Amino acid sequence: MADLSVAAAPPKLDRIDYLPGGLVDAEPRDVRSVFPNPTLITLPGERSAPLCLTTLLHGNETTSFYILRALAERYGDRPLPRSLMIFVGNVEAMAAGVRYLPGQPDFNRIWAQGNTAYHRLVHEVADLARARRPFASIDIHNNSGANPHYGCVNALRPADLHLAAMFADIGVYYRNPATTQSIAFSSFCPAITVECGRSGDAAGIARAVDLVERTMRLDSFPTTPPPDDAMRLYRTVGAVRIDPGSDFAFGDNTAPLSLRPDLETLNFVDLQQGTQWATVRGPVSPLQVVDEHGGDITAQFFVRDGDAIRLTRPVTPAMVTRDRTVIRQDCLCYLMEPL
Ligand SMILES: [Zn+2]
Repeated sequence: MADLSVAAAPPKLDRIDYLPGGLVDAEPRDVRSVFPNPTLITLPGERSAPLCLTTLLHGNETTSFYILRALAERYGDRPLPRSLMIFVGNVEAMAAGVRYLPGQPDFNRIWAQGNTAYHRLVHEVADLARARRPFASIDIHNNSGANPHYGCVNALRPADLHLAAMFADIGVYYRNPATTQSIAFSSFCPAITVECGRSGDAAGIARAVDLVERTMRLDSFPTTPPPDDAMRLYRTVGAVRIDPGSDFAFGDNTAPLSLRPDLETLNFVDLQQGTQWATVRGPVSPLQVVDEHGGDITAQFFVRDGDAIRLTRPVTPAMVTRDRTVIRQDCLCYLMEPL
């Protein structure tokens, strides 16, 4: 059934200094019984510089909710090893089970300049965090497609790289989109985003909880970068979009654009030049690659060969999704190359 929820405006930030007991029994759809509004939770711990955790930026990604629940279970009645500042983001979207509601922005695209009520809300969170000189920042997400666990960094500093390597042996460096939480926080502390597999994936939850526990107990980051074999690091070179005016399908050659049906299994697989991506009907290919400024760089990556669309160069796809809403709202995937 279609969800007809729309956002109630304007958003309001609640501030509390405890983990609500009701979290322990709550499910993601019940989130507003625990957090009626976006909430900043400030908790004291044995080490004073806080670890900033960002949760629920995307309402259909439940892993960060289960991290909150795990923290409530573990630390409801015992001291934290380090202070925490936890931002609980789009509770309305999580209650509805969607990335964001009609009328809302994407909560992970509002952390740079902007003057909506949503921008002002997250700017308040960032200002409060910056003033506390955080030890580090971790923003917790899921992918809609089948991806290995990986961390994203926005600065190639030893601390950021160590933090990402503590989570997984695959890392991604990006500077675009420039409006994300981790880019904003990377201007004042080590900051990563962790991609914990599909929403609610048990191994992803366990890995993220472990990362939070270890980071809370860490006294300082090494001042030299992690060894090369600790993490395979990629950088984003483009995003693959599908012309909004064109229909598409996976493995259906009657569609105007037919993407190979196994595309999702190629996440973080290093592909060779000539690899086929899709077949097209009609004179114009709806497959587009855009760079970080939105410029069309399709010709650098894809070439038409009869009805086939092939790679012009070696490239590594990431975050391939088959979710049509995500493809339309965000993109089909990102293209990476080793850094
Ligand atoms: Zn997300």
